Amino acid sequence: MDYHTKKLLGLTDKNFQFPENWLESRTINHLTTHFIHARLDYTPKACSKCGIKNEGQIIKNGTHKTKVQLLPLRSVPTFLSLKRTRFLCKECGATFNAKTPLVEENCYISRELKQKIAMDLA
Ligand SMILES: [Zn+2]
Repeated sequence: MDYHTKKLLGLTDKNFQFPENWLESRTINHLTTHFIHARLDYTPKACSKCGIKNEGQIIKNGTHKTKVQLLPLRSVPTFLSLKRTRFLCKECGATFNAKTPLVEENCYISRELKQKIAMDLA
């Protein structure tokens, strides 16, 4: 995916990787829905549980699939199908998922969509 497309979609986090066929359109209840496929991966600087600086103690430990609702694109409901890397800290034994500023932890609605909902309610 080129930079301008990322910018239009609001997916500029440099830790996102997109497959060649990143867009999938599915018909759910007679309604077209867009799914944007992406992978979130990086090397963490520190453990998010015990805080130890990563000097090789934090290893990649599979992936965790999440679905994040984005703002609709041209009125079409749009989701980010995001595969996050799962990390394991050998120091404390904790596991945690890769994070992105796009969405708060354990939340399935993007920050932008949250803001839009708050604005519509106001
Ligand atoms: Zn740890």
